[in-house]
Amino acid sequence: MRDSVTIVGASLAGLRAAETLRRDGFGGRISLIGDEPHVPYDRPPLSKQLLAGDWEIDRISLSPTERMADLDLDLRLGQRATALDVASHTVDIEGTTEEYDGLLIATGASCRTLPGTEGIAGVHTLRTLDDSIAIRDALRSGPRRVVVVGAGFIGAEVAATALGYGLPVTMVEALPVPMGRVLGDTVGDIVAGVHVDNGVDLRCGVGVDEVCGTDRVESVRLSDGTVVEADLVVVGIGVVPNTGWLQGSGLALDDGVVCDETCLAAPDVTAAGDVARWPNPRYGEVMRVEHWDNAVEQGAHAARRLMLPDEEAKPFSPVPWFWSDQYDRKIQLAGRPRPDDEVSLVDGSFEERRFAIIYGRDDCLTAVFGMNRPRQVMQYKGLLERRASWSEALDFAEDQP
Ligand code: FAD
Ligand code: NAP
Repeated sequence: MRDSVTIVGASLAGLRAAETLRRDGFGGRISLIGDEPHVPYDRPPLSKQLLAGDWEIDRISLSPTERMADLDLDLRLGQRATALDVASHTVDIEGTTEEYDGLLIATGASCRTLPGTEGIAGVHTLRTLDDSIAIRDALRSGPRRVVVVGAGFIGAEVAATALGYGLPVTMVEALPVPMGRVLGDTVGDIVAGVHVDNGVDLRCGVGVDEVCGTDRVESVRLSDGTVVEADLVVVGIGVVPNTGWLQGSGLALDDGVVCDETCLAAPDVTAAGDVARWPNPRYGEVMRVEHWDNAVEQGAHAARRLMLPDEEAKPFSPVPWFWSDQYDRKIQLAGRPRPDDEVSLVDGSFEERRFAIIYGRDDCLTAVFGMNRPRQVMQYKGLLERRASWSEALDFAEDQP
């Protein structure tokens, strides 16, 4: 039995890990170390309700004050872990070396930035509460034009929210079809149509050559030579896992903390959430998932893994799942589609932009995508969880009213 657990990363996966340990009856010390000054908060509203000004900060807390107190944590906010040594079982936190008994790494990810934009006012990335407040203040100050770089999740949600302020928005995407790599071109085109119909000036298949302006951003020069005036730029071009502090730790690092299928990275060390890379036995694929539900589930799994002897450890084998809210559309995807998968429309219509489609390969159901079809997505997610075949999924679709 362990005496204590140290969790580095005081956010979604880290807090869910701490809650799981207490729920399972662990009475030892739990240290939760986070470099942000805020009590753990939820990120999805940062690009949606909080950015829109519909919610205030108190609504995004991940745990009410009383519940936090019940967890009886050694909560250390505003403190950064700077090094780890798995051989000596020590972690350096703000210049002090501490021994750990069990360690869970949940340090998440940070935004990629556009080279050459450092120090130019008006250029933002969005990951933290402070980022969201800064962008919200900028949106409220009435910029003449907003340019969003990247039409991934951040770009799409920020563009939708900025339009809600009545501002002109240009969205620039390097891929020919937004989200084409994740959703395939058919669905990516429909998502693009939603943005264009809502008034976004969408430029696909072009990159950004230069963000122009000396102290403040004035314009953005695109790779096709056009120049778009801008006084607010939000860059959403992906993230990198926060593993810098783990260099030389003895852990395997490869675009994340490399774990085994049970989420164990080294003896007495597990990892969870955006930072963890592990072989998901359901897919026979090594993956790192950057979505909310995975952080919740993997945080709990990695916490329990720390408490188990090796012979009792179970693999972590979820069906990945996410949602995204853009305008009045709720987009959801469960599973792992590939661009060459067979697809079938099982509910609604593309024209109305309310539909569910399923993806299949080698007589296996691989994914379900829904636009304003939450019930159907959950139904097919259930089929994915029990590894339904493609023909079974098509039969199920036929049976629906
Ligand atoms: P994080 O939330 O990144 O937390 C890691 C924490 O560790 C951070 O506080 C970080 O500062 C801290 N940390 C890093 N290094 C150190 C260190 N050395 N020492 C101490 N602390 C450290 N997903 C969805 O499925 N649906 C959505 O609608 C959705 N919306 C999103 C909107 C936004 C704006 C963002 C940014 C993400 C969104 N996501 C969404 C993704 C989801 O929020 C993430 O997958 C989730 O937050 C990952 O949780 P995590 O705990 O692994 O990492
Ligand atoms: P993302 O979803 O990975 O999308 C980034 C997009 O920007 C990709 O399409 C990428 O294309 C493109 N891109 C990359 N470099 C570019 C460049 N120089 N110019 C123009 N486009 C470029 O990442 P994100 O939108 O930044 O989101 C960051 C993180 O937050 C992710 O982990 C995401 O999952 C999470 N998040 C999730 C949600 C949600 O689930 N609803 C909402 C918000 C944020 P390539 O693929 O070709 O690189």
